[in-house]
Formats: sequence, structure tokens, C-alpha cells
Amino acid sequence: MKNLATRDHDIIWHPYTQMQTAALPIGIVRGEGSLLYAEDGAVYLDAVSSWWVNIHGHSHPYIAEKVAAQIKELDHVIFAGFTHQPAVELAEKLLLLLPQNQKRIFYSDNGSTAVEVALKMSIQFWENTGTAKRRIIAFRDSYHGDTFGAMSVSSRSAFTQPFVQYLFEVDFLDVPVPGKEELVLAQLEVILKKDDVAAFIFEPLLLGTAGMVMYEPAVLDKLLEMCQQHQVITIADEVMTGFGRTGKNFATEFLKNQPDIMCFSKGLTGGVMALGVTSCTAAIYEAFLSDSPAKTFFHGHSFTANPIACATALASLDLFVAATCQQNIQRISQQHEHFRTQIAHHSVIKECRQLGTVLALEFNAGETSYFNNIRQKLYQFALDNQVILRPLGNIIYVMPPYCTTNEQLAQIYQVISGMLTLIAEN
Ligand SMILES: *Cc1c(COP(=O)(O)O)cnc(C)c1O
Repeated sequence: MKNLATRDHDIIWHPYTQMQTAALPIGIVRGEGSLLYAEDGAVYLDAVSSWWVNIHGHSHPYIAEKVAAQIKELDHVIFAGFTHQPAVELAEKLLLLLPQNQKRIFYSDNGSTAVEVALKMSIQFWENTGTAKRRIIAFRDSYHGDTFGAMSVSSRSAFTQPFVQYLFEVDFLDVPVPGKEELVLAQLEVILKKDDVAAFIFEPLLLGTAGMVMYEPAVLDKLLEMCQQHQVITIADEVMTGFGRTGKNFATEFLKNQPDIMCFSKGLTGGVMALGVTSCTAAIYEAFLSDSPAKTFFHGHSFTANPIACATALASLDLFVAATCQQNIQRISQQHEHFRTQIAHHSVIKECRQLGTVLALEFNAGETSYFNNIRQKLYQFALDNQVILRPLGNIIYVMPPYCTTNEQLAQIYQVISGMLTLIAEN
């Protein structure tokens, strides 16, 4: 019998993977806490929460128990004309946790669809209210997903290049990183002079895929204030920042101004089931109420509000709000901070950034090609040391599950220190 990797290699096409040059995938047979067990006996420390989703560790017994109970009770039901207990309870609990202006929950099944829903809600809001607004604003380096609407509001990059002529036009703002705030505020002011701006979508405080790029709450508050003064709908994409990543429940908790629409996925189910949520204010929702069917929000997915996914999110929320998890988030933030101060002045480090449980190190990049080379070496170096770290270009980041112990964090930091030496010697 061939192993998983070899059987996979003959028939499967992997995401974000150049299949011709990629190494064989690693077959994982079991997960527990922050650890993943491979079929060849190797054990890996999941320092990236399996693409930023897994917040409570793998195969958590409490979540497993709740999922098993739900699947025996009700597996799935059409969500138009029908409802069920997990969907109702999850909406109730989320609304208690979200900013007070959020009043309605719309379900879908991943981060990209949560963004599509937000964009379509915003566009149709203006259509329904008979206002000719169609322009969308986004950050130039943002990432909002891989479907066409989400790609349109994302950075024009190697990811979107083949599709660029199919993407709708967007007014881009630079990311207001420290030092660039005034410039970006001025850019927005120019765009807002056009009176047909429908919406502004943003990753609050932390742009993940751009390379864990961070900016301050004060400037985002100003951007939101300006949008609100011009009746522009604001959309916070908290797909990655949601559920504790930034040290608070949601990144928007750092702000004075609240967005009109919010998007969630990734940590929502603890990274166990695919589920997306788009929440909105009463004003957005009410613009779709009418005796005329034309104003209906015609959007839905087969697995909208799947009961097992909702029950998983409920179990994850139980764990998330418990004191243990909240303490772990603070503990990891403190450990990161300590390590950051130790290495910040290392000669190969250009910048060291941190927001809550997310730590990012940007290396002094020489030639881009050089870094393409070293990226693969660093990834392999981490794997050889039993840690999963996926560099984003010349940036290494840590985004661990909240159950990751201090000993495990020390192991991750040690591997990163090894990487610094590797780069310095290159
Ligand atoms: C990952 C991500 C998405 C897309 O979510 P998927 O579930 O992968 O479709 C959207 N926005 C942000 C900020 C993300 O990090």
C-alpha cells in the first residue's frame, strides 16, 4: 500500500501550490492540541493554526462531543423557510459579543462568501434606496478572499493577475501604516469628493496576507468617521482578526467608531467546520424590507447555516469566552512581546511587528529572487525542526492556537532564532 502522500500526488490538485515543483504533501493522521501527527511518525507543532483557523487546538474533545451530539439530532435543513436551534442560538450569542450596532446575522460558508455577501448587501442597499452609489474603496494591499468579488476588492497581485480584466474597478487607498496616516487621509478625502461612493471594505488593524502589515486604531477611526460623514457603508473584514487574534475579541473593539457590516469565518468554528457570518446594522437590513420581491436579498448557499457548523461555532464560543482561553490569549501575547524584545535588534531583521497573538518578523530582503530561494529553505528548516511556519515572502509570522504552551512557544522561538542565523550566514 502506497502512503497518503504518493496516492495524493497522482490525483489531487492543492491550493496555492505549484504542483510541478512542490514537495510531496505531508500526510497527517491525527491532531491533538497544537500538535499534528504525520503518517511517517513525525510530530509537528502547528504555529500557523492550520491557515489561521484553529484557535483551540486540534480535535478538541468538547467540540468533538458537541459535533457528535448535533449530527445525531439534525444534520442539515434548507435555510429558506426553515430554521433550527443552533442557528438561532449562535446568532443570539454572536450579537451579544459584537458591537452594539450589529443587529442581524446572515450565514454563509467561508470567509470569501462572507465578503461577497457584505459587498452585495452594500451595493443592493443603495439600489434599494434609489441612490446612485456604486464606487467601492479598499486598501491597495488587502486580501479579502479568492472569489471574484473578493478578488476585486483585494490587491492586484500575482494572485489576481490572470483575472485582472474580469475584476470590477475599485478605488484603492494605501495602507495607513505609521508615518503614512496623513497621506492616506488625504487620499480618502479626494475619493470622497466623488459623491457616488457606496462602501469601504478593510481588514481592521492587521492585513494578514499582505504580510501581517499593521496600522493604528486612531487612523482607522478617522477613516471611518470620514466615510460615515459621507454616508459610505463601512465593512470590517474580521475573517482573520476575529475571535481573539488581536488580543481583544474583535479588532474593531480597539475603535471608537463601529462599522456597518462585519465579516467572520476562520476562528468562528474554532477552525473545525466551514462557516461564514456577515452581520449588519438595522438600517442595512431594513432597506431590504418591502412588499415588492425586487428588494429581496437573493443570495444563499446550499449549506447556509448548516446545523453541524453552527453547533461547532457554539462549542467554540463556549471555549472562547471561558477564562482559560482569555488568559491564554494574554499569555501568548506576553510571550510574543518578550521574544520580540530579545530579537528586535538582530542584524537581519528589518521590522518586528506584533498585535496580540500575531507576531511577524520582516527580514532585510536582498534581491526578491534571493528571498524566493530562502523562503523555501526557511519553510523546510522549520519542518525539519518539527514546526509548521509558512513565510509570506520575506516575512515569518507566528499565529498559534491559544492552547499552545509556553514550552511549545519556546520551541517555535528557538526555530525562528535558528532561521535568523541561517539568513545571516546566507
Ligand atoms: C482568509 C481570509 C478571507 C477568505 O476566507 P476563506 O475562508 O479562505 O475564503 C477573507 N478575508 C480575510 C481577511 C482573510 O484572512
